[in-house]
Amino acid sequence: MLDNKEILEKMDVRKNIGDVVDYVNSIFAKALERKASDIHIEPTEFFLLIRFRQDWDFFMIDKLDRENISPIITRLKVLSKVKIDENKKPQDWKIVYMDSTDNKNIDIRVSTLPTSYWEKIVMRILKPDATLTNIDKLWFIDVNLEKVREALKSSYWIILVAWPTWSGKSTTLFWVLKNYNPLEHNISTLEDPIEYNIEYVNQSQVKPDIWFTFSTWLRSLVRQDPDIIMVWEIRDKETAILAVEAALTWHLVLSTIHTNSATATIQRLINMGVETFLLSSSIRMVISQRLLKKICQNCKKEKNLSEPLLKKVRDFLYPIMDKSEVDSLVFYEWEGCEKCNWSWFKWRLWIHEVLIVEPYLEGMIINKASANEMTELAIKNWMVTILQDALIKAAMGLTTVEQSLQLI
Ligand SMILES: [Zn+2]
Repeated sequence: MLDNKEILEKMDVRKNIGDVVDYVNSIFAKALERKASDIHIEPTEFFLLIRFRQDWDFFMIDKLDRENISPIITRLKVLSKVKIDENKKPQDWKIVYMDSTDNKNIDIRVSTLPTSYWEKIVMRILKPDATLTNIDKLWFIDVNLEKVREALKSSYWIILVAWPTWSGKSTTLFWVLKNYNPLEHNISTLEDPIEYNIEYVNQSQVKPDIWFTFSTWLRSLVRQDPDIIMVWEIRDKETAILAVEAALTWHLVLSTIHTNSATATIQRLINMGVETFLLSSSIRMVISQRLLKKICQNCKKEKNLSEPLLKKVRDFLYPIMDKSEVDSLVFYEWEGCEKCNWSWFKWRLWIHEVLIVEPYLEGMIINKASANEMTELAIKNWMVTILQDALIKAAMGLTTVEQSLQLI
């Protein structure tokens, strides 16, 4: 398969794009059809590159003569009603695009940044609310789903860890919020940026330039009689402490943090300076989430694993499953067919690690145990690690053992 550099080299530079209005519309239509999350309009030294991000991969879409840069950027500025002559400063706007396939308005967030070759434009396609409700899309295995549902009944602090940053944390957070009726609870969120609009939820946007940050918002929010609080990200000690206080005063607090595992999150909060006795009694659940590529269900076929690979799989699964059950598992590989277009980039699958902070962990938190020590104890208390989750999904025919083991 060609890599993106080779694909780009093979593409011709197109001079004539026809009517610019039609061209820009065709880019939006194509992005929606391919379920791209972002459209990048990138002026380079010799041409204008248009590429899409789908899941985590980039796809080269068009390579245009540089004379098209100005008309395309001007058209986008007209659509979003911002100053056309401002090109020295970064700008953020929004475009509302009418999707003609189902007559729905789609919000597209637009960001410009001056670069050495003009302005680069990145457009994020904001998925409509309706796509968020399907539980199957979240891929929780039953045992984890049970834990998540149980934890959501409480008023505590729940943290989501997603790695890498774009691995769908907003979808999971909003799925969690969907469990609550906003007319029966007072739900407030502070986001950066607001990605989905939800009816009756009080959504605010971070504005650091006017000091509207996570900590100032949290401080004002306690006077807003909230039940459920969603803090988009814990970035500093002050926000972490305010989140702990909110959870200790009977609010459900949801937030995300930038670490790479469930127990590392606890360690990170301790390192930030959160008092361990407050932390152990406020935090209830940490969900760590990652994306794996999903194999095509049409062309997957059974695969006999090599002995060393099989041994690794057994080492990871014996502790949580019956030996005979593990030995009889079947694994798969991806072959390529018309349906997946010989490319497995199209689909993704989430894998999780759900850590419930139960009394057995509280002592460890208070004694500032290491993340590894906490993980070991959590495994003894039936936490399914993210790697085990991936292997279970490999045995369900959703991904491959090779991909799962890359997580080590
Ligand atoms: Zn296929």
